[in-house]
This record gives sequence, structure tokens and C-alpha cells, in this order.
Amino acid sequence: MNTQKSLANPSVVIGPNKHLIGGEWADSVGGERITVECPATKAVIAHTPRGTASDVGRAVQAAKRAFEEWRRVPPSERGRALLKIADDIEKGVEELAKIIAHETGNAIRTQARPEAISCAATFRYYGGLATELKGATLPLGEDILSYTRREPLGVVGAIIPWNAPAAIACVKVAPALAAGNSVVLKAAEDAPFAVLWIANICNRHLPAGVLNVLTGYGPECGAALVAHPDIQKMSFTGSTAVGRGIISATADRILPVSLELGGKSPTIVVEDANEEWAVEGVASAMRFTRQSQSCTAGSRLFIHERIYDSFLTKLIALVEQYKIGDPLDEQSDMGSLINKKQFDRVCGYIEDGMSRQEGRLLTGGLPPKSGPLSKGYFTVPTIFANAKNDWRLAREEIFGPVLVAVPWRDESDVVGMANDSHYGLAGFVFSANTARAIRIGHALDAGWIQINQGKGQLMGQPYGGFKESGLGKENALESLLESFTA
Ligand code: ADP
Repeated sequence: MNTQKSLANPSVVIGPNKHLIGGEWADSVGGERITVECPATKAVIAHTPRGTASDVGRAVQAAKRAFEEWRRVPPSERGRALLKIADDIEKGVEELAKIIAHETGNAIRTQARPEAISCAATFRYYGGLATELKGATLPLGEDILSYTRREPLGVVGAIIPWNAPAAIACVKVAPALAAGNSVVLKAAEDAPFAVLWIANICNRHLPAGVLNVLTGYGPECGAALVAHPDIQKMSFTGSTAVGRGIISATADRILPVSLELGGKSPTIVVEDANEEWAVEGVASAMRFTRQSQSCTAGSRLFIHERIYDSFLTKLIALVEQYKIGDPLDEQSDMGSLINKKQFDRVCGYIEDGMSRQEGRLLTGGLPPKSGPLSKGYFTVPTIFANAKNDWRLAREEIFGPVLVAVPWRDESDVVGMANDSHYGLAGFVFSANTARAIRIGHALDAGWIQINQGKGQLMGQPYGGFKESGLGKENALESLLESFTA
């Protein structure tokens, strides 16, 4: 498949813009297409097929055929194919980083390049783990053998969002393939090109049909994939609302599902942590330089009342320095939100915060209506002080750079507030007293705790949430064994 240049910016080579079905690049059966915009300029990048149930049917058939061959390939050979994919991704990492920045609006230096690098790391990690698909044997007697094997499930359906499209695609595809499954993945309609670029590389090293990628809308193409009777497993990352719908739609079939859903993660700052490193960590936990479009964003900030004002002063000074602008500019710290829907949603939350009598807008607010930032879906870091944990802004996932800061005095109160959420994905604690930080961390209802740092996911650390944040783990050996084998 030849590659092509973005219509919005010819310096960005975007790769294929079709479905990958059975090793071939294909238009959708109906011939309809989706227009994909660059969120930083609102200019058209290119068009992709608008997938329907017919395209899903073709892709699942191709995956079913390929599965019979792929499941019999020795795990070490499957692992070797994944390692070759990792090498090729690494060779093209700059090209991939540009595509990610261009289609998602995420700044290249702070977000898109690290994401591109992580894609190679993910394939390498699971390539190495492919030979860990060990079963168990029971020693019952000299002439008796009782054993289990780790068997692949069959055709895995995967649906991913736009916020870290390449990384999330790899986190699903690499372990599913290492385990011997075949995959039909639906890319997010707003950010399909990085995924198709990776699929193009995979296609060089995998038998035809082992990986199929579709582009299309969720309720049309995604729902048809979820409903297809030959899918043996569904792996989804996205909103809690859609995740809930996937459980309902697959309940009759008792389909195994993995769901990585929303979050409203707490960040707790203890009174002895009024220092630059803690401020940096809090900003990083909030994922400000990803416009906070992250399920793990530490978007409820609980600061001890003794340092409340001084800590916030330092945090404001830090975020006000961020350079917001062109995602492809190496100088930019922050880029744009993904689309108009998200932009309007985030502005709605900011308006809600500004209308609160007791709230105090410390920095940011509604995005500029004129100037260069008004040309795209740019927002600015926004912090509300005197927030209450029962505010809508403190309960709902905003998926934008809007942070609410809540003061606390008593450790049990802050743990109670932190756990008073229907989500439970991540938690962050900052204190110079590590023992105290660990005690607080242990008390949080969250799938993943970080003490004195606010970094992103690393391979090997099982990642997944409590409560309505999801089901199952990703990013680790557990995912390969528990999510993709029977
Ligand atoms: P967001 O609102 O952040 O885009 P979604 O959960 O709506 O989050 O989207 C995540 C992924 O789920 C996207 O690939 C989207 O196309 C897909 N999706 C949306 N609605 C459905 C649905 N009803 N069935 C299956 N997939 C869906």
C-alpha cells in the first residue's frame, strides 16, 4: 500500500487510509467515507472508509481463516514476528510521532514521540513473552498426567479511542497476537492514521488476515463488531457508557470482555510536600501536557490545608509557563483537544465551575476566542480552588485540562473523599514521608497507585481499574495470560 501526504499539511506522510482486511487494503463495501480533521487547524487530513456490518463480516471471516494457521505457529516464531514489527516501528518512529501529533493534537515533544516509542516497546515486550504461555501439570501418579494448556481464544475484537490511539492499539494487538489469536480492530474515527501505519508494518511480518483493521463510527462499525457471533473476545478502551453497552450486548454469549474505561483519579498532597518536585509530579499526574485527555488523569487534587495556598501558587506558576500551540512544533508543551464535541464539553464544565459561588478560578478559564489558538480546539490549563468533592466537576470525567483543588485536614477524611467516586482507576500520593504516603496509597480504591510521581503506564505494571473504571488488566504478563488465552 502506498503512503500519502496529509491534505492539511503535506509535510506529514500519513500512510494508508483504507481498511486492512485479509492482508489487502480495501474500501468499505458501501463506498462511503469519513472525513478526518486535524484538530489543531480544523483542516481535512484525509478520508477513511466508513465501515459497516458488511466490512466487519469480511474482516471477521479473514481473521477466522488466519486463526487456524496462526494458532499453530510456535510461540517463539510468533514472538519473533512481533520483534520484527518492533524493529520496524522503531525505524519509523519519527514518522509515526508526526502522524500521532497531527491527528490527535498531542504535542510531539511531550506526548506524540513518547507514545510512538512506546509502541515499539510494547511489541518488543510481548514478543519476548510469547514463550511464557505455559500451562500447569499436576503430579497425580507415575502413569497419569493431568495438564492444562494456554490456548488462544480465536478472533479477538478490539475497539480503541483516539486519546492515545497508537499505544492503545499496540497494548491490545501485541498480546492478542503473541497468544495466537487473530484480531479485528476498529480504530477511532477521529484518529485512525497512526493505527493504520502500524497495521501496515504488521502486515509485512504476519500472515494475511492475522491482523485486520477497520475504520468507522462506533454505533455502526464498532457495534457490528461487538455483535458478530464469531468474535471470541472483546477488548475495549473508551467511555464507561459504551463499555456498559458492550457488556449488555455480549451478555447472552457470555463473551469474555476486557474494559478500560473512565477515571476521576485522586491526587493527595500531604503537608510536607510543598516543593517543586511535588508540584511537577502533580502537573504530570494531571496529564496537563496531554490536555488531560487521559483516563488516569489525577483530576481531583486534595491538598493539605496548611500548604493549600502556597502549593497552588507554585502549581499555577508551573502551568502558566506551558507553551500551547502547534502540536508539530518541538517548542509546544501542550496541543489541542481532539474535536468540537470534546471542546464544547470541556467548555461546558469550565462554565459550570465559573458559575459556582464558592469556587475560585485561579488560572485558565474559557479558551481564547481570537488569536492563533482560536483556529483549533485549544484549551488552557484551568484550576478551580475551594472546590467540593461533590461538585459535578469533581465527580465526572472531564477529559480536558480542568483541575479541581479540594483542601483537607484529616487523613481519614481525605481518604474518604478520594474513595467517594464511582471510578477507581489510579491514585497519586505526594509526601516526603514515604511511609505515610504508602499508608494513604494502600487505603485508596484504585487499580494503580503512584507514590511521589505522576508518570504514565509502563510495560510490566498491570493496568486496570476498580468499580466503573473497568474489567481486566493490560500492559503486563497478566494481560497476555488472562485476557487472551483460555
Ligand atoms: P469518546 O466519547 O471519548 O470518543 P467512546 O467510548 O465513545 O469515547 O469511543 C471509544 C471507541 O468506541 C471509539 O472507537 C468509538 O468509535 C467506539 N464506540 C462508540 N460507540 C460505540 C458503540 N455503541 N459500540 C461499539 N463501539 C463504539
